[in-house]
Amino acid sequence: MDIKNVIDRINASTEKKNAYNLLLNQVYAEIPSGSCVGCAKCCSESVNVSLVELANIFENGISKLLPKQREELYKRIISFYLSEWVKPNACPFLDNEKRCTIYEVRPLPCRIFGAPSEDAYESNYMKIRKQNLTFAKSLYTFEGIKLSPKVLMKKIDFCENFIPEYRLESDAVEGLYSQLINLDGKLYFDGIIDEPIINGDLVSWVLDYIIDDANEINNSLTNASIISKEMLYQLKLDYSKHHSVK
Ligand code: SF4
Ligand code: SF4
Repeated sequence: MDIKNVIDRINASTEKKNAYNLLLNQVYAEIPSGSCVGCAKCCSESVNVSLVELANIFENGISKLLPKQREELYKRIISFYLSEWVKPNACPFLDNEKRCTIYEVRPLPCRIFGAPSEDAYESNYMKIRKQNLTFAKSLYTFEGIKLSPKVLMKKIDFCENFIPEYRLESDAVEGLYSQLINLDGKLYFDGIIDEPIINGDLVSWVLDYIIDDANEINNSLTNASIISKEMLYQLKLDYSKHHSVK
């Protein structure tokens, strides 16, 4: 999927963008609020986002950053992407002062962290662990790279410090994610995407967008690409093979 094209199409019409964001905020409003000590321990990996969330993150988050902040963010994103199979990294949206650079438009996994019951939290972790194992097997089969055990076994501890108004059980958590999937389904029926899609990794999608964006600007000036996604992927493979567990 051409992420830049999709995001630009969502944000091109103020009317549509506002309508999607209204529905998005209705989902967010269903998350119980609570008191958080702001330790940022939950910001120690990348998260998944829906397309409507991603469009909101670009329009009302990334585009509002100062050029210097944006430059630093992009550097952290590239560094995260290149080394994510080798070592665990903090979410690159976290700045050096441990503040989220897109806090106002952070996606559902960030907003919901701390609200699920311990059972719901553990059951979600087991699902993620299974997905990671499947991914590790295919990474080794197709690329000969052993995913670092530190990455594979990484677990953010259940947060004891966030006190929500009430706890969410697994079905309530899944209900919130389903609403975002349905909202992205609207993009399909509105002709913005060609096939339904279920969430994606925030770092990879933002990286896709910024590479296309940089190349679009550069192409109009020099008719040449700065870097392609394929080149960056090759760099990631080389870096991971070099640092892979032997
Ligand atoms: S939700 Fe928990 S882990 Fe995350 S910042 Fe708040 S207190 Fe820290
Ligand atoms: S997007 Fe922001 S809130 Fe979410 S994990 Fe990253 S730094 Fe934390």
